[in-house]
Amino acid sequence: MILKSDGIVLKTFDLRETSRIAIFFTKEYGKVSGVLKGIRKDHKKFGSSVDRFSVNYIVYYQYRNSDLHLISHCDLKSYFYPIRQDLKKSLAASYILELVNLIMPPEEKNEKIYNLMLDFLESLQTQSDASLLVHYFQIKILSLSGFKPHLDTCLKCKARIIEKARFSLREGGLVCLNCAAGDATLELLSPGAVSSIIYTERHDWSTCLRLKLTESVQKELKYVLNNFLVFHLGRKIKSAKYLK
Ligand SMILES: [Zn+2]
Repeated sequence: MILKSDGIVLKTFDLRETSRIAIFFTKEYGKVSGVLKGIRKDHKKFGSSVDRFSVNYIVYYQYRNSDLHLISHCDLKSYFYPIRQDLKKSLAASYILELVNLIMPPEEKNEKIYNLMLDFLESLQTQSDASLLVHYFQIKILSLSGFKPHLDTCLKCKARIIEKARFSLREGGLVCLNCAAGDATLELLSPGAVSSIIYTERHDWSTCLRLKLTESVQKELKYVLNNFLVFHLGRKIKSAKYLK
């Protein structure tokens, strides 16, 4: 069967002497892996060099009994040049590619996550604070992939959380200070950090961009979101160590 879609390059690796395998996150079919035959020998064979986080229009033959398909056309649509010129921005983009690759199973469509990646890459070109955009992305992908943290009430006693509380990575939500009873293995989270997560969950991308966060809230978010994702995925996210 021949399929067509736009897709964002998550990862590539060389295959034998002349070919390359690319993993795309496509708008229509989710994560798709395919071989671009001869791309390293004949650079003009495809209308794209299949660089990471570029958006491409691809046409591919879908094999029924394999996860690896044959890509016949690949045309570049967006390259996000300003991101590539800035090391910090490139590293932030690498992190979200790795995150999507780890979270999403092969060939499961999720157009909201596709659009979230586009929103992220487009605003990363112009916004100076790359780590803030990473936080918004983390919060939104947690919701979209079923890992939304429980933040309105205490997980144990169900009381509404209005003051500082502790965050349980294991249970994915807040525990009030009474119930936490000094359990220092749980991270303290301020009301400001909690409300910024809830705000980001509830508003669209462009509205989130107008939200201003203090440095201390950003620090809390960085710690909690990075660790919560690692805990739920059950593995380290290699590019996380380069995030500032
Ligand atoms: Zn409680």
